Amino acid sequence: MKLLEDRIRQEGIVLPHNVLKVDSFLNHQVDPELMSAVGKEFAKRFADKPVTKILTVESSGIAPAVMTGLALHVPVIFARKHKSLTLTDDLYTADVYSYTKQTTNKISIAKRFIEPNDSVLIIDDFLANGQAVEGLLTIADAAQIQVQGIGIVIEKTFQKGRDIITKRDIQLEALAQISSLENGQVQFAN
Ligand code: 5GP
Repeated sequence: MKLLEDRIRQEGIVLPHNVLKVDSFLNHQVDPELMSAVGKEFAKRFADKPVTKILTVESSGIAPAVMTGLALHVPVIFARKHKSLTLTDDLYTADVYSYTKQTTNKISIAKRFIEPNDSVLIIDDFLANGQAVEGLLTIADAAQIQVQGIGIVIEKTFQKGRDIITKRDIQLEALAQISSLENGQVQFAN
């Protein structure tokens, strides 16, 4: 997606340990117009799938997920990373190791927001080693719901996330693919 690649080229900052900082439009400040375009693009790429809900993880997955839900006219559920006073229902949970924070979080979704005939699309901001997506797949498996596809805003193709997902034979769409961040330079896969 050219619009997104241009923004990464203009505003992305390469940090140590292969981390790309894009907090001017995705991870801190959010550009609603860009996110709207992202949502429409995911809706187009998964147009033939019977999606009833979008699944993501707080916090950086929420903006692209909500815009995709808007484009597909379906609700968005975000897995929560922290215990909450209001999150007291029966929960589906999974452990997720965070690449950027180097900590393990338990992510949870209240069972009452998942129905047996749900068919979900997973959306997230980044795909690195696939831990966040794997956590959501674990929850989908536990809830016995179908995963119709996985939409990623920025994939780092030099990390192993895609391998984990392709083993499951699920359609994976990434709107920008980065093949290297070596020497502080962003290289796109295409
Ligand atoms: P994974 O679980 O695939 O290893 O990593 C995905 C999660 O880690 C994303 O949801 C994102 O929050 C974070 N992440 C991984 N790599 C990067 C990166 O290069 N930049 C930013 N900003 N976040 C990243």
